[in-house]
Amino acid sequence: MAKRVAVIGAGASGLTAIKCCLDEGLQPTCFERSEDIGGLWRFQEQDADGKASIYKSVTINTSKEMMSYSDFPIPEDFPNYMHNSKVLEYFRMYAEHFHLLKYIRFKASVRSIRRHPDFPITGQWDVVTEIYGKKESSVFDAVLVCTGHHVDPYLPLDSFSGVEKFKGRIMHSREYKHPEKFREKRMVLVGLGNSGADITVDLSHAAKQIFLSTRTGSWVVNRVSDDGYPLDVVHFTRFKNILRHILPLFLMNLWGENKLNARFNHKNYGLKPQHRFLSKYPIVGDDLPNAIISGRVLMKPNVKEFTETGVVFEDGSQEEDIDVVIFATGYTFSFPFIEETVLKIKNNQVPLYKFVFPPHLEKPTLAIIGLLQPLGAIMPISELQARWATRVFKGMIKLPSVDTMMANITRKIKKNEKWYVPSQHITLQVQYVDHMDELASLSGVKPNLLTFFLMDPKLGLELLFGPCTPAQFRLTGPGKWNGARNTILTQRERIVKATKTRAVQSCANSNFCLAPSLIVRFLGFIALFAVVFTYF
Ligand code: FAD
Ligand code: NAP
Repeated sequence: MAKRVAVIGAGASGLTAIKCCLDEGLQPTCFERSEDIGGLWRFQEQDADGKASIYKSVTINTSKEMMSYSDFPIPEDFPNYMHNSKVLEYFRMYAEHFHLLKYIRFKASVRSIRRHPDFPITGQWDVVTEIYGKKESSVFDAVLVCTGHHVDPYLPLDSFSGVEKFKGRIMHSREYKHPEKFREKRMVLVGLGNSGADITVDLSHAAKQIFLSTRTGSWVVNRVSDDGYPLDVVHFTRFKNILRHILPLFLMNLWGENKLNARFNHKNYGLKPQHRFLSKYPIVGDDLPNAIISGRVLMKPNVKEFTETGVVFEDGSQEEDIDVVIFATGYTFSFPFIEETVLKIKNNQVPLYKFVFPPHLEKPTLAIIGLLQPLGAIMPISELQARWATRVFKGMIKLPSVDTMMANITRKIKKNEKWYVPSQHITLQVQYVDHMDELASLSGVKPNLLTFFLMDPKLGLELLFGPCTPAQFRLTGPGKWNGARNTILTQRERIVKATKTRAVQSCANSNFCLAPSLIVRFLGFIALFAVVFTYF
């Protein structure tokens, strides 16, 4: 009989987890506490407790080719960077196409997941759910926890003296929905993450004045990159990933900082961070420099203290008549429904092997999906995690010994501490291409570049120099998909199709048009290799 798997949550991670169960012949039951799929990406005017919340204007900052599930490309006419409503539309298409909805029980909140008394022998779990107010208990052979980690607001009010005196409104970015409510208000926004940057710009068209306070500053990147291609498409290629591993760090920092400062000088915009380019994820803030240069947003250092009607910043400057302060200070996460002896999160430390498996269990039948912070899209990583986990559940893949897993977890923590400056989610950070490859290797689905170069050079070249899109992990191994090759070879067409909605007369002699840009690129490569060889 097929093993029964409980999937908790029907967001981006839960949907693909259901599909992976089906692909592996497992029997999934998904419990979703809300009345619909999509998780964070389903905008609601009023959010329920325990569900992630977004503001009306959220546009995703990972592009469609990089964030799609590996065997279900996003339609070519969808924008490269989708509004949240389009993201949800894509998830609905995915759920319908693979007939996932019938496996989901809505309004079903998981209250506890405990080891069944026979756990050491069977690896089974007692899952208690509350469905329309009624408690139910069922036994499952395995569990995939897909509950997200952008739900519980981190509101560090204790860090700011005088906050209790402040008579204006204090709120977390999680509560923010629309700018209209803040028309003509004087506002302070604390925290320069992606939420801080987005909400500041959104508000800046309505508020009287907005002050954006940051304690560290940030490098700011643009969604639109070289030649107008999406940022992640341009930079997350296997070739550039190889360069990232071999080039000296100072050179890459120099390159990145120069490139970003060439667009606008971060120092002159009050954004220049204390850290180097690669020591922390940049924020995606296309419109932030525009809002600063037009004076709608004024940059400020960290808040030192609150007064009754305003704030004093660390540089001694003071702003009075402040109506609202929004803390865009991020999120904390926990799994209150899982026994602490199975998984305990302290100080955002994640004691999970490859961010998925608690290492100490006698049987590897519980996996956490989507609990990481990639510089890149989460969806295809959740998918690869679920592909791996379901094969582990089936016994097709064995996990290493507890000692090996613990050593791996410790190594990862140390590596992140060495590479990145401290931040809340340093514990969850992974590099997109490296991490996808790592997970793919565990499942036996990582493409062998050499083989493709020899057998199918056209594809081989796109695998190396093109964006490392999720379909690359459907070319070989378990779960191989026949549409993968074509999906990869047509990805550039899909990217361009979405923007080229007005036909533009092409050059009479296309070879002549291409020549200058090819020559520039060729010279660029020569220069790059010259630098590498000189250095070594
Ligand atoms: P969620 O989307 O949070 O879904 C979790 C689901 O689990 C929810 O439906 C919830 O109701 C359900 N659930 C929770 N607890 C229970 C329970 N006990 N019982 C039953 N059901 C439960 N990522 C990107 O890759 N690209 C982006 O551009 C991007 N932009 C973002 C923008 C914002 C403003 C935020 C906050 C995050 C963004 N993220 C982005 C990260 C985001 O978390 C992921 O895109 C994605 O939503 C994660 O999906 P998930 O399914 O893991 O979690
Ligand atoms: P975040 O990335 O954790 O950023 C929180 C910010 O708050 C950081 O800049 C941090 O500053 C600051 N902060 C934390 N504690 C502070 C304190 N005590 N005092 C002053 N500042 C403090 O959270 P987020 O911006 O909400 O983003 C959450 C996730 O959603 C991320 O994955 C993000 O990429 C994603 N997101 C995406 C989009 C989009 O796609 N359009 C939009 C919003 C969010 P330091 O940097 O100094 O630590």
